[in-house]
Amino acid sequence: MVAKETVGCNLCGESSSFALFHGSDRRHPLPGIFTMIRCRACGHVYLSPRPAPSSIGMYYPDTYSPYTRQPGWLGIATRWMRRREARSLSRLVAPGAHVLEVGCASGDLLRELRACGLHASGVEFNARVAADAREHHGLDITAGTVADVTGEAVFDMVVMRNVIEHVPSPRDDIHHIRGLLGPNGLLLLSTDNLDSWDRRVFGPCWYGYDMPRHFNLFSPQSLERLLNAEHFTVERVSFSLVPTHWLVSSRYWLEDRGLKGRWLEFLLSSRNLPAVAALLPLTFVQRLARTGGRMSLLARKAA
Ligand SMILES: [Zn+2]
Repeated sequence: MVAKETVGCNLCGESSSFALFHGSDRRHPLPGIFTMIRCRACGHVYLSPRPAPSSIGMYYPDTYSPYTRQPGWLGIATRWMRRREARSLSRLVAPGAHVLEVGCASGDLLRELRACGLHASGVEFNARVAADAREHHGLDITAGTVADVTGEAVFDMVVMRNVIEHVPSPRDDIHHIRGLLGPNGLLLLSTDNLDSWDRRVFGPCWYGYDMPRHFNLFSPQSLERLLNAEHFTVERVSFSLVPTHWLVSSRYWLEDRGLKGRWLEFLLSSRNLPAVAALLPLTFVQRLARTGGRMSLLARKAA
């Protein structure tokens, strides 16, 4: 029996909501049925009931893909993207600036940030992954959540990539980050976009829902609302190319109609290079139309 908890809206505090759909963990064969709901007051979409703190760990097994190294061309592409990402982040701050990455996993981005001349440190929920990265790459990584990082005005920038959707209280984390940032400090948040074309096409089969790991789903507007409530000003909203959303969501859609198999898992995954290439034009148009599958908001701590 999976321990669950019922929660209210993290954005406005309202507890009245209506169910959108029910679902289970599609990535791993794990038990538990969960419900995606919409807040009646502000329209925010979140999971409730969701796994209680005592049972959430089981939904992050060692096979959970962010904890594993990407094989072949995907690994090369990922390293290239991290390097590019680190260079563009380093241009936002002064040389030698202090940067914290929340949810740094094995520290791929931290290593690239360090190579760009920044003081980079991280915090990672998975203690084993954090210890591995410390040992193998000499990185400054705390095991835990952002609440375990203490101090006042110690960072110039905080980066939180694909993490805000996983945390129990995005509001508390943003509030805590505000205290960690110095005057005019920057916060870069990236997460799946609830307002994307892929979410509209696939509905409950959308990969971005990733039940039951994603507790809160955001649109550019709702994420900005949260940031404004915690005294941040959004300076830029950008979108990335995410062919994986189309591939994996199509697989979930087919699986719901009885089509299953390892061949399908390969065919409709980011390991299938021709399929990824075929989807790039569509995702590029999506980015131009500002409806991409993943968004990044760059926000500045308001005075
Ligand atoms: Zn609400």
